[in-house]
Amino acid sequence: MYNVKSKIATEFIDDQEIRETLAYAKENKNNRELISSLIERAKDCKGLTHREAAVLLECDLEDENEKMYKLAKEIKQKFYGNRIVMFAPLYLSNYCVNGCVYCPYHYKNKHIARKKLTQEEIRKETIALQDMGHKRLALEAGEDPVNNPIEYILESIKTIYSIKHKNGEIRRVNVNIAATTVENYKKLKDAGIGTYILFQETYNKKSYEELHPTGPKHDYAYHTEAMDRAMEAGIDDVGIGVLFGLNMYKYDFVGLLMHAEHLEAAMGVGPHTISVPRIRPADDIDPDNFSNAISEEIFEKIVAVLRIAVPYTGMIVSTRESQKTRERILELGVSQISGGSSTSVGGYVEKETDEDNSAQFEVNDNRTLDEIVNWLLKLGYIPSFCTACYREGRTGDRFMSLVKSGQIANCCQPNALMTLKEYLEDYASGETKENGETVIAKEVEKIPNEKVKTIVKEHLVDMKKGKRDFRF
Ligand code: SF4
Ligand code: SF4
Repeated sequence: MYNVKSKIATEFIDDQEIRETLAYAKENKNNRELISSLIERAKDCKGLTHREAAVLLECDLEDENEKMYKLAKEIKQKFYGNRIVMFAPLYLSNYCVNGCVYCPYHYKNKHIARKKLTQEEIRKETIALQDMGHKRLALEAGEDPVNNPIEYILESIKTIYSIKHKNGEIRRVNVNIAATTVENYKKLKDAGIGTYILFQETYNKKSYEELHPTGPKHDYAYHTEAMDRAMEAGIDDVGIGVLFGLNMYKYDFVGLLMHAEHLEAAMGVGPHTISVPRIRPADDIDPDNFSNAISEEIFEKIVAVLRIAVPYTGMIVSTRESQKTRERILELGVSQISGGSSTSVGGYVEKETDEDNSAQFEVNDNRTLDEIVNWLLKLGYIPSFCTACYREGRTGDRFMSLVKSGQIANCCQPNALMTLKEYLEDYASGETKENGETVIAKEVEKIPNEKVKTIVKEHLVDMKKGKRDFRF
């Protein structure tokens, strides 16, 4: 029985509720009156329910879809302005005891090189990332209690935060590791992590169990209830997502929104971020097995409707997607992207050969961070290396109330400009620097609060003189 506040996975992600939602959306397919009224109401930026969002996703009336895209762009602009937050993944270890059929790290794969970084290697990877200009990382590791115990993850976080190379530092470490206990989540919280990220992969229990035939991840309830445990342990910011292409995308789309509604209803705060990965080719994985792969068109629609349904939740896209796709979905709602990424263990220091491949998936956007920053600048965005909120204690419901009231934009814009300036001073190529300075000069004048504008201008001068790390 569906119960949004229940702590039991099959009750807050109730299969029958998802099926009824999909049936309702089908019944109302192209119901112009309903669709128009939902789009109209969504203009208040208070979001939509999973049922309402499913009706929008189902619609194939071209003019109504155009209205949705337009609204998604407006919401994106209102809540996030034109800043795009940058991050990079850091793979610590690809040892894994699970049997996920879509991931090359599954334990049966014998032709992938297994690697686990030592603390010295982590130090080198971190320096390589700092030298690119990154300030925000997402740690990735397979599930393996012997090779990757929680103590290893905690030690690695400590190592990363301790390294200050030249003007570089990693200011926010987000963590994407397997579902674990409340006790371990408390340890992660104490280690000062930013967001805890865990993808559901699919919300369909039956498919989930088939896709995860062995290992601890097979337990659907334990995995699905992980965010409740993380929040119970005091982690305020959690990031959810599904791997589009594993199951029927409409089912997972509804499940994703029900999960967000559940976290808000039961834990008081919705997810901090939603990621929208699509399945990619990888070693020992046959993409033809995944007949549910979604087209560009559907992918764009998913992003746009998510933006409308949960306006206050950041949306992330990785280098799984091509430059072209990223360009389109940045417009429609994505607020955070990775850049210059390696999806291999140790891949920032040593480029891997085909024989020595340990990548989790093939990257579709191989540009350097500098190329991506320059590309964003040319598109009119402000690439941002901001990590201010969590360092200022703006997490959980405190953060959400600032986002919902639209006030966060007063921090994002100046922080984006100041962190971009740091990047330009320390890491940018000539052309990127030139383009960046032009964007800063133009954008700084748009800061509405005169006092803030004056402070930012002063800090920009301070940074030219070598000072670093200013934030609101
Ligand atoms: Fe292991 Fe995660 Fe890959 Fe599954 S998806 S095999 S848990 S690394
Ligand atoms: Fe993100 Fe907060 Fe920085 Fe805005 S001010 S970019 S919400 S960390």
